[in-house]
Amino acid sequence: MIPIGKPLLGKEEIDAVTEVLNSGMIAQGPKVEEFELAFSEYTGSGYAAAVNSGTAALHIALLAHGIGKEDEVITSPFSFIATANSILYTGAKPVFADIEPDTFNIDPERIKEKITSKTRAIMPVHLYGHPADMKAIMEIADDNKLIVIEDACQSHGAECLGKKVGSFGTGAFSFYPTKNMTTSEGGMLTTDEKEIAEKAKMIRAHGSKIRYLHEMLGFNLRMTDIAAAIGLVQLGKLNKFTEARQRNAQMLSAGLKGISGLVPAITKAACTHVFHQYTVRAEKRDQLASFLKEKEIGTGVHYPTPIHKQPFYKELGYRDSLPVSEKAVEEVLSLPVHPALSGTDIQKIVEATREFYVED
Ligand SMILES: *Cc1c(COP(=O)(O)O)cnc(C)c1O
Repeated sequence: MIPIGKPLLGKEEIDAVTEVLNSGMIAQGPKVEEFELAFSEYTGSGYAAAVNSGTAALHIALLAHGIGKEDEVITSPFSFIATANSILYTGAKPVFADIEPDTFNIDPERIKEKITSKTRAIMPVHLYGHPADMKAIMEIADDNKLIVIEDACQSHGAECLGKKVGSFGTGAFSFYPTKNMTTSEGGMLTTDEKEIAEKAKMIRAHGSKIRYLHEMLGFNLRMTDIAAAIGLVQLGKLNKFTEARQRNAQMLSAGLKGISGLVPAITKAACTHVFHQYTVRAEKRDQLASFLKEKEIGTGVHYPTPIHKQPFYKELGYRDSLPVSEKAVEEVLSLPVHPALSGTDIQKIVEATREFYVED
């Protein structure tokens, strides 16, 4: 079976973990600090704060900016549930703006329509590894004095106009095993504001800077040195991983060109796509997925339900009509693109997909 995702872990990661275990310092310690420094340098942000998940990074980013009750945050309905849930955790209200049909990212024109006197922040998601339109989004934020929190959980290293995602506003990254790099579970907040970084580090540790002195309500959302040690090795390999993803994507796009009924993934000018997923729009999507499964090719639907249509959100009273997202959930299919794939694997994926549409 060709899996839809697979972490690439080797001897270096095992050795790094062993070193931490032997040191006896297995909670948050010097490796976390080293990882934060390396990651902030990588993204070109002034500061970084490591946490135990991407969800935690989003949650802390909102809290560090003082977002809470009575506030509205505009975000994409076409994402993993954690994006909108992080807003709910703070007591603020997620407001959904529909997406662009080609990149599947939040549409700046739709953001403008959703701004009210309660809007405090915009939370774009760089979905599948393709940056959202950060030029337009930063302009809207400037014009309306809004905070920008980037959900960069799928887009480590992606660039928009030569600038890495996570460095436009406050960034949130995930290191879950299927992401472009991993620490097992883990996350990172990036920011250029010293005050936000300091606040984030307090919130992750029960609101304290000095042990047992608690200045605000916080949580335990810390990363361990075991996870950070894996992250440091993975970060060193990230550019190689990304190049392999981009090479695989290029081969998929070349192979899938011209099939009637299927639209290959696109990359917009001025963007670097890091292909967390290679996602096509496919007619008869579910039949294609079953056909590929029979041929031992794993696929994924990211995502089958837009957030505003999730049972829990309907219970909260969401009744939005967001037609571009509602159509996308019926048509998207992610094909394997991860760096563990061989050329033969890609060939197999292309041939099987072509066979489905020819036979059909
Ligand atoms: C993975 C992911 C998250 C959450 O990250 P976790 O580390 O799983 O908590 C949030 N948003 C998006 C878009 C993601 O893909």
